[in-house]
Amino acid sequence: MELENELKQHVDGEIRFDEISCHVYSVDASIYEIKPIGIVLPRTKEALITAVTIANRHRIPVIARGAATGITGGCLGHGLIIDTSKYLNRILEINIEKGYAICEPGVVQDDLNAAVAAYGLRLGPDTSTGNRATLGGMLANNAAGAHSLLFGQMADHVEEIELILAGGDVLHLSSIAPNSGSLFSGLNKLKERYQDVIAEQMPVLPRRVSGYNLDALLENPINPCRLICGSEGTLGIVSKMRVKLSRIPHIAGLCLLFGDDPIKMMQSVPEMLSYHPISIEMIDRTILDQARNSPLYSQKLSWLPEISQAVFSVEFTDSIKMQEFQQHFQNYHPTILSDPTEIKDFWEIRKAGLGLLLSRRSYTRAIAFLEDVSVPPAHLASFMQKFQTYFKEAGVYGHVGSGCMHVRPFINIQSNEEMKTAENMMVKLTELLREYGGVLSGEHGDGLVRSWLNRKLYGETLYQAFIDLKNLFDPDHLMNPGKIVEGTPFAQDLRTGPNTAIHEIPTFLDFSREGGLALAADLCNGNGACRKKEGIMCPSFQATDDEYDSTRARAQLLRDIIHGELPPASLAQKGLIDVLDLCLECKGCKKECPSQVDMAKMKAEVLFQYQEKNGASIRSHLFASMDNLLHYASLFPWIYRAVQKLGINSWFGIAKQRSLPSLSNNRFSKIEIQQPTLEKSVVLFNDTYCEFHTPNIGLSAVQVLNALGYHVIIPPYLCCGRPAFSKGFLKHARHKAEALIKVLLPYAEAKIPIIGLEPSCLFMIKDDYQSLVTTQASIEIVAKSCITFDAFVARHEFSDFKPSKDTLLVHTHCHQKALEGTTATLEALQKIPGSVVHKIEAGCCGMAGSFGYEREHVDISMKIGNLHLFPTIRNSEEKTLICANGFSCRTQVMDGTSRQSLHLAEILARYL
Ligand SMILES: Cc1cc2nc3c(=O)[nH]c(=O)nc-3n(C[C@H](O)[C@H](O)[C@H](O)COP(=O)(O)OP(=O)(O)OC[C@H]3O[C@@H](n4cnc5c(N)ncnc54)[C@H](O)[C@@H]3O)c2cc1C
Ligand code: SF4
Ligand code: SF4
Repeated sequence: MELENELKQHVDGEIRFDEISCHVYSVDASIYEIKPIGIVLPRTKEALITAVTIANRHRIPVIARGAATGITGGCLGHGLIIDTSKYLNRILEINIEKGYAICEPGVVQDDLNAAVAAYGLRLGPDTSTGNRATLGGMLANNAAGAHSLLFGQMADHVEEIELILAGGDVLHLSSIAPNSGSLFSGLNKLKERYQDVIAEQMPVLPRRVSGYNLDALLENPINPCRLICGSEGTLGIVSKMRVKLSRIPHIAGLCLLFGDDPIKMMQSVPEMLSYHPISIEMIDRTILDQARNSPLYSQKLSWLPEISQAVFSVEFTDSIKMQEFQQHFQNYHPTILSDPTEIKDFWEIRKAGLGLLLSRRSYTRAIAFLEDVSVPPAHLASFMQKFQTYFKEAGVYGHVGSGCMHVRPFINIQSNEEMKTAENMMVKLTELLREYGGVLSGEHGDGLVRSWLNRKLYGETLYQAFIDLKNLFDPDHLMNPGKIVEGTPFAQDLRTGPNTAIHEIPTFLDFSREGGLALAADLCNGNGACRKKEGIMCPSFQATDDEYDSTRARAQLLRDIIHGELPPASLAQKGLIDVLDLCLECKGCKKECPSQVDMAKMKAEVLFQYQEKNGASIRSHLFASMDNLLHYASLFPWIYRAVQKLGINSWFGIAKQRSLPSLSNNRFSKIEIQQPTLEKSVVLFNDTYCEFHTPNIGLSAVQVLNALGYHVIIPPYLCCGRPAFSKGFLKHARHKAEALIKVLLPYAEAKIPIIGLEPSCLFMIKDDYQSLVTTQASIEIVAKSCITFDAFVARHEFSDFKPSKDTLLVHTHCHQKALEGTTATLEALQKIPGSVVHKIEAGCCGMAGSFGYEREHVDISMKIGNLHLFPTIRNSEEKTLICANGFSCRTQVMDGTSRQSLHLAEILARYL
């Protein structure tokens, strides 16, 4: 309490000591979970120094944290977490001429790369997590990436470091200029004492992160930056760094090799290296199969033959060398990828390897404990031959060219016996590594998972040298204690382990596909892809830069409730509602989270359970029953228009900035539509928006469908239940769903396509009904017949549209993006001859049904719109047509840019 108050008084930043935040900050991408005492998000370097000084006075450990993508539990601990990612993320200086950048620790790798790409430069090391990992975390883990053959590790690129020591003292360290001060006399003494043993016993490897980089002491003069790289925040916190910028290499292509015996392929690594590739990577069959089953990655595997136990990708800057290589390795069916899209797709799969491995819906998982071994590349095959006898089934991938392998055996994390076997495996592996001159970590670090083995791995003398180094920088062991030296036991603080009590909370929705709600939440492995700043997942994090608003935070809180860490074991908890508050239910995570965590579904369940116990607000009732309200409004339109005009909606918590959408004079179902006599038929699903607000879209759709040769059947109007579902009124939603299925089933059984105009309504039927509706057989038949208007048009050969010179910008609804993609919309628009069609690279528009209408959400809703969508539209010419199929998206575009957007059906009808 005293610590909290003092921090609040003196530190310019956010100070969080509440129970919920501590749970949110208790995980990273490792198998561990430790609740911190509190969290500080400093706004300035001075605030960081003050926080460290205060913690030191209270003898509280300090743990630095970036994006928490570390796989070892390195940023976890029972102390004060300093999160640098939200505010200390500025690039302070870029010097193109001299080729360096000065950055705060929270700068994300890809952001720095984007800032210097125009000059042909980048940061050398490229971690797979580059779209969210911070430079502070990269430096502290001495990160590398696929291109370490060319670029080495982070330690080869850090020229200067500003380091905050435990007491708050600030050190300026340089690898390019002389250093002085009392610390250096200490380092010199260490050098004198240990130089012989370092020279003799420190393994020399292309990649090594285990332990401290003591060989930096042997450089002349001593290189303090190399020493800090890989020290995992145990010597001090980095508040600023100067990093070298490297030339972006020209890529000639990738030569892919396929084979049935990965060990045999590894034997050829030294020969492969003689062709001077810039990377040699491997992915095994387990991961490739997982990619085949992933909605996101299955479309990116055009290069993959049906059967192959492993693929090696060998990357070249020199096309002649690549061809020679291809000629030489004919046995492995070499395929060259030189098309940039194919190369990009390949790297996406390679980078997603780890996440993909973790998407199994089971407690038998490919966990990370011996996932980062590093051995001399020349001995890799022989080492792996022995190593693979330790486990039955594992996912294997890695940087074969530099001898660093990511091996993840499948272990039942709830079995004491299997966890004990895992621990024994690590001890045996350490012995094997000593035999081969290898180490336990080539890029991920020691953290909680491996530090306990450093004494065994390095031997007594080197281990003592590690302790002496630690004592020199941090005599009281308050900087990230228990990492690198004095590690805690392997099975302590497991996130989910044999002793975890799993409370199966009964659910209204069917979670059997996920293996139950507990597994649905526990699918989150913490890899932090939900912190990336592009794509659909996760709009709330993209707008706030705050861990609290990430998918991971939401999954973590759910997990802790289910595991009894945050009693009671009930979803009706206010804290959970708060952490879910900014989830827009956009389904971005269902598509883009490598484990396919489906937070939109879990939020609907949580809202339901919370409201069953505590009741719901009037506003939620109003939004959930929107279809009924609109029905009455259509009977008494003057009342609706009066409410609209007087802005009375704000009485119910609707934002003043928003006006209620206009009510059409005619309901779509009441309009007499003349259609030509046509042989084939389709059903047009008349959703709530078309029925009450935009019947013109329905009319346009009929026109287009008639032109394609179909008679259009319009069944009686029924709401699909989406508004009720997203507000957690699940009983209500089920009732509506079952009524609608009854109406649609006969058409589906007659194999008549059912076309949807409003993406959120169509995907309600295709996706959400599967867990909502009890009549599974009927829903499967109906869902199969349902198709978006876009996909239906796209699959037709139709060339009778009038030519156009229009430029079209397409914004796809987030549910459509997540479950179908944008291709069909683009293809449908490209049928207009002469049209120039561009996709807007944005995620959710920010409106998300009723979310953006709510008073407390309107600002964040507009902020999300302003990330990519609004600027792209504002920067387009006034006459550019904007295509947006979602009713809320069109409202949001109007409110955010004052530009009108049109449904695809309206645009196509214009050109008939
Ligand atoms: C799917 C996946 C793929 C990965 N692929 C790679 C890869 O290709 N290459 C690779 O090298 N790593 C990889 N990693 C590991 C991890 O992403 C990297 O090590 C990354 O650099 C960590 O950055 P972060 O910001 O997430 O750090 P965090 O996880 O937040 O922290 C990591 C360590 O750095 C310390 N730290 C953070 N900030 C500071 C600071 N300012 N001062 C001092 N110490 C600090 C923390 O205390 C902790 O010990 C992967 C991880 C995942 C989940
Ligand atoms: S929600 Fe998905 S993307 Fe986010 S941390 Fe969890 S597994 Fe990773
Ligand atoms: S549904 Fe959307 S907003 Fe909610 S957690 Fe997933 S990506 Fe984030």
